[in-house]
Amino acid sequence: MSSTESPTARTVLDPATGEPLGTVPDTTPARLDAAVQYALKAQRGWAALAPGDRARLLRRFADQVDAHIPELAALEVSEAGHTLGNARWEAGNVRDLLEYAAGGVERLAGRQIPVAGGVDITFHEPIGVVGVIAPWNFPMPIAAWGFAPALAAGNAVLLKPAEATPLTALRLAELALAAGLPDGLLQVVPGPGATTGRALVDHPDVRKIVFTGSTVVGKEVAARCAARAKRVTLELGGKSPNIVFADADLARAADPMSFLDNSGQDCCARSRILVQREALDDFLALLLPAVEAVRTGDPADPDTQLGPLISAAQVRRVASYVTPELPVLARGAVPDGPGFWYPPTVLAPADPGVPAATEEIFGPVAVVLPFDGEADAVRLANATRYGLSGSIWTRDVGRALRVARGVAAGNLSVNSHSSVRYWTPFGGFGESGVGRELGPDALVHFTETKNVFIQSEE
Ligand code: NAD
Repeated sequence: MSSTESPTARTVLDPATGEPLGTVPDTTPARLDAAVQYALKAQRGWAALAPGDRARLLRRFADQVDAHIPELAALEVSEAGHTLGNARWEAGNVRDLLEYAAGGVERLAGRQIPVAGGVDITFHEPIGVVGVIAPWNFPMPIAAWGFAPALAAGNAVLLKPAEATPLTALRLAELALAAGLPDGLLQVVPGPGATTGRALVDHPDVRKIVFTGSTVVGKEVAARCAARAKRVTLELGGKSPNIVFADADLARAADPMSFLDNSGQDCCARSRILVQREALDDFLALLLPAVEAVRTGDPADPDTQLGPLISAAQVRRVASYVTPELPVLARGAVPDGPGFWYPPTVLAPADPGVPAATEEIFGPVAVVLPFDGEADAVRLANATRYGLSGSIWTRDVGRALRVARGVAAGNLSVNSHSSVRYWTPFGGFGESGVGRELGPDALVHFTETKNVFIQSEE
């Protein structure tokens, strides 16, 4: 974490320089409880509003975000080290998520089900108070994946940002108030995961947790939720393959940003590059110079492609996977001086079972592994406990479909490196998560289905 620990407050650091940006107080259990009580009250009023009025207020919130994109992006650059282009896109993504969710408020329809003796109808009732626990790697969009549909479905939200990145979350909650959302409806509860995060998960009046973060913490959150029969969605780690067949458009498949975007701190990073053996030399001739040419440096410079990692601890964690026996195919440059930097690196392990090839590194490091034929590609792609994302590159449409069906992952792209669109469902197989977010059903995931039978026969 790029923040310094204290029992009551933490200093947020700029990862590009290591300099302090400000201090944010931790939310104590007593303050958290007061926030939950406040949220309960706000939620009752919010759920009672006409759907059109709720939608209108959410669109106003989207307008506020839109009007503050430069400010939000600048905050994201300074506290998370994101490149300026990415940070602007992320702020715009929050606006889009709010608009998309607002469009769902008036379409959150139940069903009428044919039954004997009367009429049967279902309602999508709000859950109540929802806790959204966000990571530091995409602080704004991931918070909004949770709060936008949760609010649209009639809930109140307590948002716990990661220790390193509370500033954009706090600003977004101010913008919600400026838009006219009721006081208490969207509150930010900064603080450490081990205290504030746990207190949020354990609070009896918080009826759903949306957790995005590491698999190890996600399992603990799920166990605590299970003990309280609490609804939970988990978006966890990944070790996604980039599967390149010899007939593919190799130049596009070899885009280094497929694993370097956000300095590799991306749960969907294509950090396992699987290449059909006969195309390996041609592919590497494209990939390796492109990796070494990536422009690393000040994230606020619009030309920068790769910024710092979030913290010194993250640099140490990434470095621990790059063990001396692993052959290095390419290594880019990083700035000298302060800040938390790691060079873009491509490894060629002889053994596909080494940790660098199977564990989530969460940094600018990829491994290249050759395969022989379609079945071998699918076998290698699935040789991990994760199953979040992946790319498949081939001009053979039948093969693309067979491999897409064969790879055990929630979000695959053919002849593209994209993963996340707010219009489409997102989530993981295996240890990459439980449940889905985004897409046409996003609001339904923040409701309880209520069935009502009305007898019409005497
Ligand atoms: P993390 O698990 O350390 O922390 C995530 C959040 O959980 C933070 O807000 C943290 O304060 C909180 N937390 C920590 N311990 C807690 C506890 N015991 N109870 C409740 N809350 C607790 O993860 P991170 O290092 O912030 O984020 C990186 C991880 O997130 C990576 O593994 C990455 O793959 C994953 N991630 C997944 C997705 C996805 O959609 N699948 C998206 C982004 C990131």
